[in-house]
Amino acid sequence: MTHLLLDLPPLGAAHFASIEDRVARLLSTGQDVVIMQGEALLPLEGAIRATAGPGTTALNVITGPYGQTFGDWLRDCGATVIDLTVPFHTAVTAEQVRAAFAEHPEIDFVSLVHAEAATGNTNPVAEIGEVVRAHGALFYLDAVASIGAEPVLPDAWGVDLCVIGAQKAMGGPAGVSAVSVSARAWARMAANPRAPRRSYLSLLDWKERWIDGGRKALLHAPAQLEMLALEACVERIEAAGLDTVMARHASAAAATRAGAAAMGGGLEPYVRDAGEAAPVATTLRAPAGTVASELVARALAVDPALPLAAGGGTLAKEMIRVNHYGPQATAGAVRACLTALGTALTDAGVTVNTQAALKAAEEAWH
Ligand SMILES: *Cc1c(COP(=O)(O)O)cnc(C)c1O
Repeated sequence: MTHLLLDLPPLGAAHFASIEDRVARLLSTGQDVVIMQGEALLPLEGAIRATAGPGTTALNVITGPYGQTFGDWLRDCGATVIDLTVPFHTAVTAEQVRAAFAEHPEIDFVSLVHAEAATGNTNPVAEIGEVVRAHGALFYLDAVASIGAEPVLPDAWGVDLCVIGAQKAMGGPAGVSAVSVSARAWARMAANPRAPRRSYLSLLDWKERWIDGGRKALLHAPAQLEMLALEACVERIEAAGLDTVMARHASAAAATRAGAAAMGGGLEPYVRDAGEAAPVATTLRAPAGTVASELVARALAVDPALPLAAGGGTLAKEMIRVNHYGPQATAGAVRACLTALGTALTDAGVTVNTQAALKAAEEAWH
């Protein structure tokens, strides 16, 4: 008996390269795209360890939990790190980045998260890219949560290392990821004696043994099922149209925001300015006197499949996350989340108007 998941023909180098090319088209990039055989943290860490060292001065923008992790890796590499932390209910501005360069002209590396699924904000990468380019620093971007939900344009924005994963708005697998690498970034790695080599973390290995060899021989057996799932997910996005997929995420975010505001009882969007709210996921502030994680637990008791979560760590008390991404970027998912939250708030003794929330969400979707 043959099995769909097991008895597959081998995934060859040409097929692997064609999947890389499709991902490159999704990013509208002419840079090299390397698909990494692990979850997005693999290229996120690999790209920092490849380019940062004791001579690096890094501006690390923190708009959520991932920025904190990047700072830890950068320090571990011996880099001097200047953290630019902004409150999680806002985005960073290009002006703040410009001010950091004015104060520390030695900055030669900037790390930034585009959209934060964990805190619900999105940062103005195009404007920040202009500032970074003007100072000649290397620009590292985590676009895992933005790809598929809003435009991600590494070439147009001057991003040197753009990391994506398929598990959020692309609605794809979590076990493979990709990074686009500029010529400048490759040069920085080649000149870095501490860049990982002959290592699973190594981007240079892929450059020297895969790309420079004309993509004829893979470094090791590919994660075949994950690669096929990545290909299928890009195919599905191409068939629907990337713009259509992004529009669904924008509608889901607008509907969730409007619905929460109309719910009453003190439930409100966590990110105050709608322009700084990420299309990938919407965060809400739990009303005073309630605990976000308890509300989420009550809502999930209604339907455990709902894309709801409490904020991580200390945010668990105050933040509700509506993860309306990938297959959940639908009007139905938004409606179901608002309905369940309305029930949870009512159970907690808060007076809300779920019907008004659903009506506002419906109107905002279009
Ligand atoms: C989801 C996400 C990642 C991937 O990390 P996981 O914790 O494995 O999901 C990386 N960066 C950002 C900004 C993300 O939202």
